[in-house]
Amino acid sequence: MGVFNKIPINLKFPIKKLFYFGTYFHCLACNCRIRRFEPAGVDHEAVIKYQIIGGGFYSESLCPVCRSTYRDRLIMWYLKFKIDKKILKNGKIIHIAPEYTLYRYLKRNKNYYCGDIDLRKYPKFKQFVKIDIVDAAFDKNTFDLIICNHVLEHIPDDQKAMKEIYRILKPGGIAILQVPISKKLLTTYEDDTISEPDARQREFGQKDHVRIYGQDYPKRLLNAGLKVEIVVPANGFNYRKHGINKEERLFVCTK
Ligand SMILES: [Zn+2]
Repeated sequence: MGVFNKIPINLKFPIKKLFYFGTYFHCLACNCRIRRFEPAGVDHEAVIKYQIIGGGFYSESLCPVCRSTYRDRLIMWYLKFKIDKKILKNGKIIHIAPEYTLYRYLKRNKNYYCGDIDLRKYPKFKQFVKIDIVDAAFDKNTFDLIICNHVLEHIPDDQKAMKEIYRILKPGGIAILQVPISKKLLTTYEDDTISEPDARQREFGQKDHVRIYGQDYPKRLLNAGLKVEIVVPANGFNYRKHGINKEERLFVCTK
């Protein structure tokens, strides 16, 4: 990527679009036709052992033009093709630990807020608010859309976070709550005595993860009061062309 470092930022996008142009692959995040997606991520031992979807290495992960990941693009697919457009335009939205790609798409909405507990990680983001997802400073029934993508696996008391999401979600609103999830584990693996980064990496697949979700993840959401729908693109959808992992599921919650 070094060749693009000296190019002014407003010229980067059109130049990259041209440079990576191809006829097969299509990025739903930046809407570019590209000749490849790039690999990203590292398969730590636990990722392989527990067959974790949404974690570790993925061969067609990054879009070379907009740097979206395969996980961002699955959410982008949902936003572009499944959600009521009125929510995107005017609905009240909170996007927790925001991915730049989704931020760029959503920030045209004046009721869009993104946030994190640590403001310093996002110096360039506007409409940014400090939010602690286990104790969110918002009234109940505030948001039409909540996006929380790969956050809950970092939070020790995830039940509390899920209950907060339930509380601030409007009736009729939607919460997209993605986590890395094991194909093998029926029950979520967590152990709060494992607190050292290296031990967490060994046990949970990443230094700052506190668990590996198993197939009981939807049940944990239900326990917090949320209704869960598991959503995937329709049969015939070309996952490879759009750089989306066909094993990943969207957990779309309502109250
Ligand atoms: Zn892209």
